[in-house]
Amino acid sequence: MTGGLVDPALADAPCLGAAGGPTEADWAAAVKVVRDLPPDGRVLLICHVNPDGDALGSMLGFGLGLSRLAVGNLQATFPGSAEVPEPFQGMPGLDLLVPEADAYPDPDVTICFDAASEARLGRLADRLRDSVSIVVDHHASNTRFGTIHLVDPQAAATSVVAEEWLTRLGVELDAEIAECLYIALATDTGSFRFDVTAAVHQLAARLLATGIRADEISRRIFDTRPFDSVRLYGEVLSRAEFDPAAAQGRGLVWTYATLEDLARYGQRPYVLEPLIDSIRCAMEADVSCLIKQVAPEEWAVSLRSKGEVDVSRVAVNLGGGGHQLAAGFTGHGSVFEIMDAIRAELEKSVITPDAAA
Ligand code: 5GP
Ligand code: MN
Repeated sequence: MTGGLVDPALADAPCLGAAGGPTEADWAAAVKVVRDLPPDGRVLLICHVNPDGDALGSMLGFGLGLSRLAVGNLQATFPGSAEVPEPFQGMPGLDLLVPEADAYPDPDVTICFDAASEARLGRLADRLRDSVSIVVDHHASNTRFGTIHLVDPQAAATSVVAEEWLTRLGVELDAEIAECLYIALATDTGSFRFDVTAAVHQLAARLLATGIRADEISRRIFDTRPFDSVRLYGEVLSRAEFDPAAAQGRGLVWTYATLEDLARYGQRPYVLEPLIDSIRCAMEADVSCLIKQVAPEEWAVSLRSKGEVDVSRVAVNLGGGGHQLAAGFTGHGSVFEIMDAIRAELEKSVITPDAAA
């Protein structure tokens, strides 16, 4: 295998997340940091590389909320921030975004959204070490980097945690903040299909009460793609494979998309994000996997389970992270080498009744 699939630093990392969310002491500390900010304090908001709706939405929604308090000087950024994926280009709060290279080198406070580990922040991870840093997240695999942890593995999205922090700061929701938080919540719940609880719908109701249009937002974020991406989907889906023996017989459906595929159809990588939802519906398999090439020997891997396999364990053991039923990692080598590594991990990651208890 070339390059090594597993980052040795992460290979043995256990899932560190506690079942509970932030304590009252954590909340008090986070609120105090904001209250104590001097008017000229520099606040840097960051989120993970290749941001999804939850990463950008929780960061920008919280940033807009902070701007309503008129405390500190705000900047937002993420690794590779020059490229905001098309569906998010109309989001409120994007004026807070600065190129990564222009981000405060020495912020007073750094707030990090939706990143389970420092590895997801690239070079921006330095800022966390040199400032008061608050980590806002909901990944069970969060490695507890940073100073103050607002990490709730029970939360359906990072935006759930961000909204609670805004409430505790006395910020009133308005339509701009709500649009960002709604995009985040809708993204991570698969448009209210996963992690659906009364609390999720109560938050959605509070956001919709500001007057935002859920239908328009959903069409823009989820249902606006170039025609040629539809043809690309056809090709990638037609090469899907079903492996009934994988994961001790729970079954695996998987496919891949190369840079060459994207080039042939003139498409950008973001169009591939929804494809995992098209393969996960295969009823014969518990696990689904989509492997997306990002460089000649580098692949972004998405894993999903319907409940019988802990794909977060697979992802963590291969250098990534995520949630029990939705996780990912960056793989190196060929598709077939990566699939071999995934199959080996899947054998060890079936949820037994004892482990689930
Ligand atoms: P997706 O498959 O939608 O990209 O990601 C599913 C989940 O896995 C998300 O919670 C995401 O944050 C996490 N995830 C995806 N890729 C990586 C990765 O390379 N490293 C880590 N730590 N988490 C990942
Ligand atoms: Mn998230």
